[in-house]
Order: sequence, then C-alpha cells, then structure tokens
Amino acid sequence: MRMADCIFCKIIKGEIPSQKVYEDDKVYAFHDINPVAPTHILIVPKKHLAGVYELEEGDRELMGHIFYVARKIAEDLGFSPAQDPTRGYRLVVNSGSQAGQTVFHLHVHLLGGREMTWPPG
Ligand code: AMP
Ligand code: ZN
Repeated sequence: MRMADCIFCKIIKGEIPSQKVYEDDKVYAFHDINPVAPTHILIVPKKHLAGVYELEEGDRELMGHIFYVARKIAEDLGFSPAQDPTRGYRLVVNSGSQAGQTVFHLHVHLLGGREMTWPPG
C-alpha cells in the first residue's frame, strides 16, 4: 500500500479526524473508533511501517519508545499495576491478516478498563 492511501498516515497528518491522546516527533496516539474495551487507544509510529514484520534494525529504538509511551499513557489513565497492583492493561500488536490486522500501518492497541481473558480470540 502506498503511504498516500494509508488511513493512519492520514490521521497523523490531520487529514482524517481523530481523538488525540498523545503526540511527539516520533509517535501519535488516539482513541480507536470501534473500542473493544472501556479504554482503547492506538499508538502508532509517525513513520509508515506496515507492521512488525517490516521493522528494520534502525527501528528498534522507535519500538522501545512506543512501549514507553504506552506505559506513560496507561499511568495517566490510572491503569498501571505500578500504581495499583489490582489494575492492569493489555498491549496488542496484530501482525498480518491471519492475526487480525486490518490496518497495515503498525500500531499497538492499549486496552484497559475491564477484565481481560486469555487466550485471545
Ligand atoms: P487491527 O485490526 O489490529 O489492524 O486494528 C485496526 C484498528 O483501527 C481497529 O481497532 C479499528 O477500529 C481502528 N480504526 C480503523 N479506522 C480508524 C479510524 N479512522 N480512527 C480510529 N481508529 C480506527
Ligand atoms: Zn501509514
């Protein structure tokens, strides 16, 4: 897919509206349009990568940054077990259509606000 056609690239550029949660020079985070938990946020790199399967060696720091941002957002929302050991949240990265990926711009789902089950569907 060309970046020009990518829905998340358009959201990052402000061409499609979104409910922004966090932004810095490398990362954009916003509320999922079809939440599957009381809180459902997507954290995406501003750099277009289709998925984890396109990561290159130079992207390792970027992925670490995304997970650090996830930690900070979860703490802002009060979901962190570091704050309250009874709380928790789930980070999900669907990678490929068989795994349930539908938008082919790498994103980390941050799910919180309810009990989670395992294994996922
Ligand atoms: P995945 O199935 O892992 O590729 O996740 C894609 C996610 O993007 C789904 O949870 C969708 O609800 C979400 N999504 C699709 N379009 C939008 C949009 N315009 N704004 C916010 N979230 C979206
Ligand atoms: Zn994109």
